Amino acid sequence: MSNIINTSPYWSDFVQQLQPYVPGEQPKVADLIKLNTNENPYPPSPRVLEVFSRDLLDQLRLYPDPNSTSLKQALAQHSGLEQDNVFVGNGSDEVLALAFMTFFKQSQPLLFADISYSFYPVYCNLFAIEHVKIPLREDFSLAVADYQRPNGGIIITNPNAPTGIGLALDEIESLLAANSNSVVIVDEAYIDFGDDCTSAIGLIERYPNLLVVQTLSKSRSLAGLRVGFAYGSKELIAGLDRVKNSFNSYPIDRIAEAAAVASIEDSDYFEQCCERTIATRAWTCEQLRGLGFEVLPSQANFIMAKPSVVPAAQLFETLREHKILVRYFNKPRIDQYLRISIGSDSEMQALVAVLKQIHGNNER
Ligand SMILES: *Cc1c(COP(=O)(O)O)cnc(C)c1O
Repeated sequence: MSNIINTSPYWSDFVQQLQPYVPGEQPKVADLIKLNTNENPYPPSPRVLEVFSRDLLDQLRLYPDPNSTSLKQALAQHSGLEQDNVFVGNGSDEVLALAFMTFFKQSQPLLFADISYSFYPVYCNLFAIEHVKIPLREDFSLAVADYQRPNGGIIITNPNAPTGIGLALDEIESLLAANSNSVVIVDEAYIDFGDDCTSAIGLIERYPNLLVVQTLSKSRSLAGLRVGFAYGSKELIAGLDRVKNSFNSYPIDRIAEAAAVASIEDSDYFEQCCERTIATRAWTCEQLRGLGFEVLPSQANFIMAKPSVVPAAQLFETLREHKILVRYFNKPRIDQYLRISIGSDSEMQALVAVLKQIHGNNER
């Protein structure tokens, strides 16, 4: 979009200097293979459809439950925690924004990895939170020891985005133990796709400084519904509630709450979809490695891959011409990589076929 307005005398000085997050494209073009925003290729649980009734529609004249009790109940049951350990919001992006406001405005800086979810620096900018980026190792793994320094909070993404690399639970535990005076957020947007990377939820009982953030957007195929949530000690959740109730009393609408509950209750379907994505990921990694790509080990529903024959930026454009959309980040350290979401088997087969064709053309 070239006609974006970048300045106006009506805006405050503060707003003039904001640098908003740029989400992956949601193109209106038909028959595009969309592998750029880590959406799930499978539809949501069929039980979600069943909640749409005349009755639900009639109830839309009423405000929803400001506490989203039925959703918290479902999440509490799913996680084995209590309702007071659960917070919900309009997508995990909103949950994260509220958490940054609640916990990270401190005299010491917030710490996060140099390569991580690019919304974090945007929130820091918006809420005037000082932060320090801690470089990942050369192989993009996270060294917990590097976070041993004065801080006003830590946020890590596990598995990390956009690398897909997972951090072991004992490493997270040592981070929590060494930083008992700071809130540590573990953003687990992709945890359900991990095969040797486990959720930190089990550590909440012992670490009151831990907040685990998850979402229905990726593993539950509900990116369009906008429901995210957090688990933590009662004191952390109560802090989030204070800020939420100073901002928007009703972040979860009636439709979203009913649909989210239906999805969470359908564990079988959810597990099947995750297993399919994990299997497709393994197949795709193998194929890409066979084509000479360097593929980072992924625990998520996407892979970071470095092409050998054509530079990443150029391959991004060529794939686009073939109606395949992936994500390219023109940023230090990762500008030689493409991030490719794991779609259905047939979508990934189409990708591999096009890559073989491009390789053939470049070798001739
Ligand atoms: C996708 C994503 C989110 C946001 O998810 P929503 O619930 O759709 O807002 C948060 N964190 C990371 C790392 C993500 O990739």
